[in-house]
Amino acid sequence: MSKILIVAEHDKGIVKKVSLSAVAFARQWAAKTGMSYDIAVLGQNVGPVAAALTAYGAGAIHVADHADLAHPLAPTWAKVLADLALDIGADVVVAAATTLGKDILPRVAVRLEAGMASDVIGIVQTKEGLGLRRPMWAGNLVGDVIITTDTKVLTVRAAAFDAAEATGGNSPIKAFAAQPDAAKSRTRFVSFDGVQSTRPDLAEAAVIVAGGRGLKDKFNAVTEPLADVLGAAIGASRAAVDDGFAPNDYQIGQTGKVVAPQLYFAIAISGAVQHLAGMKNSKVIVAINKNGDEPIFKVADYGLVADAFSAVPELTQKLKALRG
Ligand SMILES: Cc1cc2nc3c(=O)[nH]c(=O)nc-3n(C[C@H](O)[C@H](O)[C@H](O)COP(=O)(O)OP(=O)(O)OC[C@H]3O[C@@H](n4cnc5c(N)ncnc54)[C@H](O)[C@@H]3O)c2cc1C
Repeated sequence: MSKILIVAEHDKGIVKKVSLSAVAFARQWAAKTGMSYDIAVLGQNVGPVAAALTAYGAGAIHVADHADLAHPLAPTWAKVLADLALDIGADVVVAAATTLGKDILPRVAVRLEAGMASDVIGIVQTKEGLGLRRPMWAGNLVGDVIITTDTKVLTVRAAAFDAAEATGGNSPIKAFAAQPDAAKSRTRFVSFDGVQSTRPDLAEAAVIVAGGRGLKDKFNAVTEPLADVLGAAIGASRAAVDDGFAPNDYQIGQTGKVVAPQLYFAIAISGAVQHLAGMKNSKVIVAINKNGDEPIFKVADYGLVADAFSAVPELTQKLKALRG
């Protein structure tokens, strides 16, 4: 039977929620094509990750456990994923459109001589067959593409597919004898300087408080107390990052992260198309801006025309009082 192979991302033994969105995509694609889906877990000592994935209805969880896969270096991971896809006869290889997915999957596509679609946000029936919907030009256009090669490689936007729920099945775990050929790779792992934060990861957060250039050097003073009350992640526009008010990894948008939380606060953000490309799929958008004509209000569910320096602290205080 034709198969989809889903690449699982994980961190410290925990499956990333974005990968469950890739599972949700696979379920939709499988329902339309009659395919089944398997999941690939690469890394070192990844038994708990594989075990956690057995409840998601996959035909099998393929585990490539190898010291050379301990860090997700694209050349070694891509080789093993392509080997695995060939070994199990996968017709579709899919991962979440994260930094990692976007680094690894194009290399898998080259190895498999497969056509690729990135940032997929939907599945559509076209006259020529089943197509994939994806944003183009910073989300100003949406295109439907058909991959004409037998093997297809895709990255899917987690924001477009709600994370799959566990179905309680018990997928078999199968060991795959990975040969990463790390010695042949021109890339080697040196160190990982991760951001240490007690806040939720931007890509996984249910609530995001994002600030723009208008907050100037009060960026932290305005966003942090509100984020603390809401247990939110903090994000920023590119202008706020470029001007040095917020760190790089906060950036949301076309050239930053793509997010879709339950609740998104856009504070002193004008709503340029490149920013909207990264957050307009948020479930509820609240805009706070002193200029009521800004484009952010066109996508906002709730808008407050006010000075953020007084309105946000007041809101924060009221929320604190509500929470006792
Ligand atoms: C190729 C390309 C890629 C890009 N990628 C991204 C991207 O990934 N993400 C991104 O965000 N941008 C991106 N940009 C930049 C984008 O075009 C905008 O310049 C940027 O989003 C503007 O950020 P901003 O809204 O914070 O700043 P501004 O446009 O300067 O807006 C500041 C806002 O703050 C408001 N304000 C000021 N003071 C206050 C106050 N006291 N209280 C309330 N409101 C106040 C103003 O009314 C205004 O709306 C990209 C641009 C290009 C060309």
